[in-house]
Amino acid sequence: MTKTLLILGGTAEAGELARRVTATHGETLRVITSLAGRSEAAESQSNCIPGEVRIGGFGGPQGLGTYLKQQKVDWLIDATHPFAATISRNVRLACETQDVERIIFDRPAWRKQPGDQWAELPDMIAMVESLPWVERRVFLTVGASNLEAFARLRRPGQPKSWFLVRLISPPKRPLPLGTKGKDYEVVLGRGPFSLDEERALIRHHRINILVAKMSGGEATEAKIIAAREAKIPVFFLSRPLPESGLRLGRMEDVLAWLDVRT
Ligand code: NAP
Repeated sequence: MTKTLLILGGTAEAGELARRVTATHGETLRVITSLAGRSEAAESQSNCIPGEVRIGGFGGPQGLGTYLKQQKVDWLIDATHPFAATISRNVRLACETQDVERIIFDRPAWRKQPGDQWAELPDMIAMVESLPWVERRVFLTVGASNLEAFARLRRPGQPKSWFLVRLISPPKRPLPLGTKGKDYEVVLGRGPFSLDEERALIRHHRINILVAKMSGGEATEAKIIAAREAKIPVFFLSRPLPESGLRLGRMEDVLAWLDVRT
């Protein structure tokens, strides 16, 4: 009987995993990739993923459990983003209930190198309070829903701050960072970004602080390398606590895990 693998995606790594698995096991294994479908880019992203693609939430752990049962899922690989904590928790709960074997494909965090000026903070308030007391030109790469705390930098008595905000899709409402054009600019883009692109953004906008999630992985690493080259400090938002379960950090190990089961 054909076995079914469900990959929880939304990352470059999940797309690559689907490509590798369908190339080697596509004849004998049904491979489904699930995307949240939050961004307008999800549709075009889904066209590049081989195998079956489903888009949209499941309706919490119960909904996911029902889906696992209906689709007769044998194995699940959670290849979601390290900051997508809700879906990873739902996945663990649903797999426990339905007795589906699960692993987490967990990209390693970036490693600090000598000379790097890095700080890692648990939340955005702590981050904002740790920023250096200089005139700031901040490159914000943490998404649109994490920016409220930066409004504090616009209070009287603070050094002047200007922001370059990178988002996947245009914001639905004005950002809490002052006046667009004067106090902040938005640049749209979805990774991977090249090192040359990141160098050019930092140079052109005279960025002196980079703010990023500790996402790890290669797709968005170029900005970290560009910041290192430009000798500018990087302030990271720490990853949420990971779910328990087997975690594999290398694609080859994930494929080997699957090989022994198929
Ligand atoms: P989240 O907070 O953990 O999940 C929120 C809800 O979105 C989940 O409860 C689930 O809805 C749905 N969902 C999330 N991922 C899904 C998937 N792969 N397939 C089906 N439903 C999914 O997630 P998030 O942080 O908003 O991220 C959304 C997606 O974007 C994730 O798949 C993640 O891999 C990707 N992503 C996230 C980040 C980030 O920084 N958070 C960065 C890059 C990519 P139901 O409860 O209805 O099932």
